[in-house]
Amino acid sequence: MTDALTDPVNSTHPLMLFNSLTRAPEPFQPVHPGEARVYTCGPTVYNYPHIGNMRAYVFADVLGRTLSYKGYALTHVINITDVGHLTDDADDGQDKMEAAATARAQSIWDIARHYTQAYWADIAALNIRTPAHWSIATDYIPQMIDFAKTIAARHCYELPGGLYFDVGSVADYGRLARANTEEGAGRIDEVEGKRHPADFAIWRKTPAGESRQMEWDSPWGRGAPGWHLECSVMSGALLGFPFDIHTGGIDHREIHHPNEIAQNQAFCCTGGLTDPANSGANVWMHNNFLVDRTGKMSKSSGEFLRLQLLVDRGYHPLAYRLMCLAAHYRSELEFSWDGLNAALTRLKRLVMAVAQARAAAPEPADAPGPRFADALGRFDAAISDDLNTPIALTVLDEIVAMKKVDAAQKLAAIALVDSVLGLGLLTLDRTALRLRPKSATIDEAAITAILDQRRAARADKDFARSDALRDDLAAAGVEVMDGDPLGWDWRPL
Ligand code: AMP
Ligand code: ZN
Repeated sequence: MTDALTDPVNSTHPLMLFNSLTRAPEPFQPVHPGEARVYTCGPTVYNYPHIGNMRAYVFADVLGRTLSYKGYALTHVINITDVGHLTDDADDGQDKMEAAATARAQSIWDIARHYTQAYWADIAALNIRTPAHWSIATDYIPQMIDFAKTIAARHCYELPGGLYFDVGSVADYGRLARANTEEGAGRIDEVEGKRHPADFAIWRKTPAGESRQMEWDSPWGRGAPGWHLECSVMSGALLGFPFDIHTGGIDHREIHHPNEIAQNQAFCCTGGLTDPANSGANVWMHNNFLVDRTGKMSKSSGEFLRLQLLVDRGYHPLAYRLMCLAAHYRSELEFSWDGLNAALTRLKRLVMAVAQARAAAPEPADAPGPRFADALGRFDAAISDDLNTPIALTVLDEIVAMKKVDAAQKLAAIALVDSVLGLGLLTLDRTALRLRPKSATIDEAAITAILDQRRAARADKDFARSDALRDDLAAAGVEVMDGDPLGWDWRPL
């Protein structure tokens, strides 16, 4: 018997997702029929996100869009970490937010507000859909204290530094990381009195004689919550345990998520991890890293790779989104300006092709029609195969290139595919894609005027003048593109 809710319209292929807990692809089976509940670890808002961070949210967005396309009612939560994340993911170092506030002599709340806004601007620029909830860690302090109270007696112990979680008190600690925790001990801060090197603070007491900008009273003294505690509390509060999918970057597979899982086990189930539901979420998914061999990804390098830097150099943010989609989310992706250039060219081709279809039919048809069934079936197969966006993109290329088809139906097919890929193909136009680099010394009107003069010179067969005008433009950072098959007059050099 088929259930209309669990057998949604686009589900011709079962949705397979790679579960980091089992290290295997598994068919998606929602906890609540017809629904998908997803939690994504959000940014620590002490600085601008780099484009590597944004890869994690492009991935989570494609996952959410795929679930929506498959017909599930999606509830997505992304948190904002404005307290508790130390400079080391384990138990070492200073709170990143406090450190930034001290270094800049600014209020931590102003820093959090500024970088949260900047992060949201990048989210919008990359066409990442707004989740149902942006949960802000400092809004959940009472719930965090309640959660810690619930598990304290059986799973925690107090040290002068605060309340510590005893990782030996839950079954299968560290299974997600496949870690031998003894081996990992070297990476973990040695705190006097810890029962196990991997034990971690879930409440950190402010040391006597010190004060923090952000601190709260608790049964374990005035202080601040641990970073891992936040995500357990916010995911459980907003989605209920067990929920469907928890996502984050692959670095979280090593410490942050194993610690969240241990807390979740302590809070609700204590059972072992042979049943993933005991971890708090049925599926744990991790995107691989964007890597940059030039070292510009590090936020400690002066000019690091922010989305704005790409825009300043004349690249539309969606070219970066396309670059991410052209690699599978579980593969490492190496950043290069050549790669970004190729992505921009590919995006331009797609936008031009859509413009041609729109010239023939301003609006998409209600449905794509049978001519597109084969391609859309292959698109469904690709995206259902653990979100294989590189293959999905090649199917999109095919659809866009189809000749002698109804333009309105073609637009409907493109719209369906783009509801998952999120490239904004039905709204972008070519002028929006042509960003002038910040370093360019000439504006769009002047470029157009010079190009007009150059066209006149060529019509008069005055090639010397035409070449001189081209050189003037080159000096101003603009390349003239004679005979460009896509019809572009110029591009930033
Ligand atoms: P953070 O603000 O450091 O907590 O990181 C935000 C998100 O970005 C987390 O999900 C990280 O795992 C992820 N992340 C960090 N660096 C990279 C990278 N180079 N490539 C992809 N994801 C990353
Ligand atoms: Zn988290």
